[in-house]
Amino acid sequence: MKKIIFATGNAGKMKEIREILADLNVEILSMKEAEIFLDIDENGSSFEENAVIKAKAVAGHPNAAGAVVLADDSGLEIDALNGEPGIYSARYLGEDTSYRIKNQNLIDRLEGVPDEKRTARFVCAIAAVFPGGETVTTKGIIEGKIGYEERGTNGFGYDPIFYLPDMSRSTAELLPEEKNAVSHRGNALREMKKELMLRFG
Ligand code: IMP
Repeated sequence: MKKIIFATGNAGKMKEIREILADLNVEILSMKEAEIFLDIDENGSSFEENAVIKAKAVAGHPNAAGAVVLADDSGLEIDALNGEPGIYSARYLGEDTSYRIKNQNLIDRLEGVPDEKRTARFVCAIAAVFPGGETVTTKGIIEGKIGYEERGTNGFGYDPIFYLPDMSRSTAELLPEEKNAVSHRGNALREMKKELMLRFG
């Protein structure tokens, strides 16, 4: 059976990838399950570069021999802040700072910015490194707007301030399956599934 290793320590991401790739008939392992323990320096200058850096680092580990390695990198781009926090989303105001503080800080920085200029998007790049070394990337996006207060308790990170005008809800007010159906990561994963199907036959 074909084996995929997803370079993440995040249980939520593992659940999502397992759901989306369920019908591919492949074994999907987390780094931990593959017993790969690496500290990877994400020093790329784009989401794609960081995803490739992670996937290649894991693909070089002996325990990844013969497997397809996937890695993702994602973040929030706010137009009125010139794309911040962008690739620094996890590190914004410090890795250990609570999202209550990060979210309030972003709301404060947008003070006076009118509705139509509060546009933002979540972006996710996924990289795949195949056993022969071939590297493929896909990208998924979800467009929204930054709200005026936190709303909702589902999801994580910046979800409580990210509004979907069409659904009149923040992504923290969506059920996990509702979010997966429209999310940047879901979209990037569905694109990657097509690439995998082409190569797995
Ligand atoms: P990473 O891709 O796991 O490095 O995550 C990057 C960071 O982007 C996360 O720590 C969050 O701050 C933010 N982020 C990425 N995707 C989402 C999402 O779906 N909801 C909320 N925040 C997100």
